[in-house]
Formats: sequence, C-alpha cells, structure tokens
Amino acid sequence: MKKHIIISGGGIAGLTAAQLLLRMGHDVTVVDRAPEFTQAGFLLSLKSFGVTILEQLGLAPVLREASIPAEFMDFVDAAGSLISHNSYQELANNTVPSILLTRGGLHQVLYDSVKEQVNLVFGTTIEQVQREGPRVRVTLSSHEVLDADLLIVAEGLRSATRGTYFANSYLEDFNVFYVGGRIKKTHSYPVGSFTTIIAVDSMLSIYPISREEVAIQCYVRGREEGSDYRSISRRLLQEKANGYRADVQHLLAEFLPSEQFYADKMGMVRAPSLVDNGLVLLGDAGYCPTALSGMGASLSIYGAKALAHFIGQSPDDMALACQQYDAIMQPIIEKFQGNARRNAASFLPKDEASLGLFKAAFSSTSESVLQQRLADQIGLTQDQLQLILGEPADQAHNGQLS
Ligand SMILES: Cc1cc2nc3c(=O)[nH]c(=O)nc-3n(C[C@H](O)[C@H](O)[C@H](O)COP(=O)(O)OP(=O)(O)OC[C@H]3O[C@@H](n4cnc5c(N)ncnc54)[C@H](O)[C@@H]3O)c2cc1C
Repeated sequence: MKKHIIISGGGIAGLTAAQLLLRMGHDVTVVDRAPEFTQAGFLLSLKSFGVTILEQLGLAPVLREASIPAEFMDFVDAAGSLISHNSYQELANNTVPSILLTRGGLHQVLYDSVKEQVNLVFGTTIEQVQREGPRVRVTLSSHEVLDADLLIVAEGLRSATRGTYFANSYLEDFNVFYVGGRIKKTHSYPVGSFTTIIAVDSMLSIYPISREEVAIQCYVRGREEGSDYRSISRRLLQEKANGYRADVQHLLAEFLPSEQFYADKMGMVRAPSLVDNGLVLLGDAGYCPTALSGMGASLSIYGAKALAHFIGQSPDDMALACQQYDAIMQPIIEKFQGNARRNAASFLPKDEASLGLFKAAFSSTSESVLQQRLADQIGLTQDQLQLILGEPADQAHNGQLS
C-alpha cells in the first residue's frame, strides 16, 4: 500500500532512499536546510557495494563519466621518501572497481534522478515531531504540517533532529580536522597518480586530477575548540607545512589562502538504536563512520538500500521494517567505525615511534597482502550482501580476493 514518507536531508543518503522508495510507489517528500541544490564538496571515493547498488539503479554509467582517473597511490614520508607504491588497477581486478569523483558530482547524479518525481522542499527544516499512533505529524519551519507513515532523518553528521529526538546518541570526537579542496594550476605531477604524505599528526593527499587542476585532501590532528573549522584547519596545516618537501610547501602556500576548500571536524556518530517510534536515522546522521573509514558514501547508500528493502517487505508495519534495518546495520556500523579508529591510529601517527612502525609495516608488506587488507576493509559478509543486493553475493561484491 502507498505510504507517505518524509526524508529530512536531501544529501547522498536521503536522495538514494528517495529514489528507491519512489520506485516502490511510495509518496516521498524531501526537506533540506540548504536554500537550493548546489554541487557542494570535493573528492570522495565510492567503493565496493556502494558502486553495486548504484549500478542496480542504472546510475553507474553516468557516475563513471563524472569520475576522475585513478591509477596509482603512493605513500611517502614528509621528505618524499617512498613508503609504499599501490596500483588501483590491481585492487580493482579483485573487487568491484571504486569510482573516485567529487561529492558534488555524485549528489548531482542522484538529484537529477529524482528531481522530477519527488516533492523537494529547500530552505526548510523539521520544527517539531508528534507521534500519532504508528504515524508522525511533522511541523516544518515553514509552519506547514505534514502527516506521514515514517520520518527518515538523513541530515548528515550534525543532524539537529537526531540531537532532539535521539537522546542516547552522541558524537565521538576524533580531534581531527578534515580539509578538501582543489586548485587550478598547471603542474608537473602525473595525472591519476596520487601521493599521500604520512607525517606525525597529519596525512596529506595530492591528487593531480588533470593537467590544470590539483585536488588536495588532508587530515590533521588538533584539539582546538570553536566552530570556524576553516580557520582552525588552515592554521594547523600552515604549522605542518614547513615539514613538507618544497613542492608541497608551494602548493599549500597557494591553496590555503583561498576560500575554495571544505573543512570540517571529524566526528563519529554513535546511536545505540537507529529507530525511535516513527523516526529512523540514515547515513551520516545515524552512523557517520568518518572519512577515515573510506566508506562514508558507500555506507550511506547501503543504509538507504537496506531501509528500502525492509520497507518493501513490510510496508504496513514500519516499526518492524525499521527494527530489521537497525538489526542489520549495527554490526556493519561497528565494523566500519572500528576500521576508522584503527586507520586514525596508523595513518595519523601520534609520534615519531608510531610513524616508524607505520613505515616498517607498510614497506615490509607484500602487495598481495596489502591488497587483501584493503579488500577486507571494504567488504561485507555474504549474508549482508545477499539480503540487500537481492542476488547471489560473489567474491567481487564481497570485496574479497580469490
Ligand atoms: C556541503 C557538503 C560537502 C561535503 N563534502 C565532502 C567532501 O568533499 N568529501 C567527503 O568525503 N565528504 C563530503 N561530505 C560528506 C559526505 O557527503 C557524507 O559523508 C556521506 O556521503 C554521507 O551522506 P549523507 O547523505 O548521510 O550526509 P550529507 O551528504 O552530509 O547530506 C546531509 C544533507 O542534509 C541536509 N541537512 C543538514 N541539516 C539539516 C536539517 N537540520 N534539516 C534538513 N536538512 C538538513 C544538508 O543540507 C545535506 O543536504 C560533504 C557533505 C556536505 C553536506
């Protein structure tokens, strides 16, 4: 039976859920705080089952068109000495190939796929939610009142609705700032060959994405308080810059004064339950695994698919559908959040001794073992895949090497 479902937050998770629920014939309203759609954000990597789900939706070809060439990833130290050389192609031979693209590019593809069919209301937030038996009555900031069978909260990392209605949820602070941006610049770095510089308390990646453009991503530790993440990150990176080799110093000298970068403080969302009586958390709002998991976008897409799957099975019992969604998501969240904590410890070494351990571990590990580890990091169990993807899960879906 056709249901009315409100989604608060039209980002990656919200628009994927909207697309899937529309295909099931439900009536979907999406509200978003942003005044209008914009292609915001910089690089992200869509991996493993995230690619498979968008392939099933018929969106992969257009995403591949929007993607950025990726061939090699080198880990080096601040002086430029090679720690490890890795081929994306080798990894792709054994898993579902990743798609590296801009967050705005992915968002645009999802937006284009639903904008004609969904009621998308920009510049609006949830003011109040009242439970009416199994249904919800939602008052919007525009004072409009909507009745719905379910409210999906997909408002991203700093979700206000989560803060109000999910009292047991909290943000685990990583004390790490994230910076992503691009600069137009002719350069001599080989396009598609990326360099990640591992240093004490920072990890800086340089992505030459075309002959005229370089993307930069950086994680830097800092305990600073305050909400001006751009200024704090800029200051922290400027302090680190002196330790880098000359070409990187020049790059940062051009990059940091510009306003053209996205900065945020990394946080991991912990919600013991993703469900509360007519409300359900989706994507970063419910389980942000941080960019250090490498799976933020894919996990938000998997969550949308899982939620839609259980709603499809029990459209007349949203409470049951949401409980089943919560049950399948919790162990998956634990896995990817655990990976992110371990990655923070190894890729952002806290002192010279930890940096030494990282270098020794990476340079002594064979390429096949390294690839197995990377594949394990992005994989799910056969059951978790089969249930949601609706087809036999093979080794490629699982991200496992043969
Ligand atoms: C502007 C922006 C830029 C980003 N850039 C990058 C990047 O460069 N690299 C990267 O790896 N990740 C980036 N991310 C995060 C990335 O999109 C997510 O980690 C991941 O894709 C999970 O998606 P999500 O839909 O759960 O959250 P998001 O993609 O964060 O989407 C949340 C949506 O909710 C809306 N929203 C927020 N609060 C409210 C509210 N109270 N009421 C209604 N709507 C609300 C937001 O406008 C947004 O559309 C960015 C996110 C945003 C919002």
